[in-house]
Amino acid sequence: AYKADEDYDYLFKVVLIGDSGVGKTNLLSRFSRNEFSSESKSTIGVEFATRTIRVDEKLVKAQIWDTAGQERSDPVPQRNKRMPLRFHIPLLTRSLPVHSIYRAITSAYYRGAAGALVVYDVTRHITFENVERWMKELKNHTDANTVIMLLGNKADLRHIRAVSVEDAQAFAQQERAFFTETSALESMNVETAFTEVLTQIYHVVS
Ligand code: GDP
Repeated sequence: AYKADEDYDYLFKVVLIGDSGVGKTNLLSRFSRNEFSSESKSTIGVEFATRTIRVDEKLVKAQIWDTAGQERSDPVPQRNKRMPLRFHIPLLTRSLPVHSIYRAITSAYYRGAAGALVVYDVTRHITFENVERWMKELKNHTDANTVIMLLGNKADLRHIRAVSVEDAQAFAQQERAFFTETSALESMNVETAFTEVLTQIYHVVS
């Protein structure tokens, strides 16, 4: 039978996290609209996109959250020199310490997330090292049932790879996370990765 886009059996929130520039926005646009952009984005704030897929005869609607701004691009905000967090804060909240505002934003971002895609760039080792801190933040804000998937993005850039599949696999295993490499550019494994996360979430809740 025909089902409208608004029809679904389950709605799952999934958050995208990872350093700035690893490809989070493009993974999301590839999955939700089958689009890729070679330009860096300029939007500031939090965005989400949705797409409904079928899992075991059920319609699962994914609401995927992405931080479009630079302000959350580093798990330790005071180290981000490019765009200090305080510039995004309305005047009313100016008297609050920056770290408490940061915590409030972070909590809202993670609230209700059933799954998380933790992304690094296979060509920049530092983005893989930072995954540990992203995982810590994630685990501080979500419960133990949250499905975690580690994504090594930009796998198309084979000639400048800086992180091996083996290292990433070992790390994912240790963190009890799923793992795959992706390319938002070549549309490689993107569909599989999102489907896997949504299927695993479905198995947790059903
Ligand atoms: P974000 O800051 O994590 O959201 O990263 P973006 O999605 O804005 O991507 C940062 C840059 O990397 C952009 O120039 C993208 O075009 C590029 N990019 C994203 N995904 C891939 C990919 O899979 N392969 C390659 N070669 N470039 C990518």
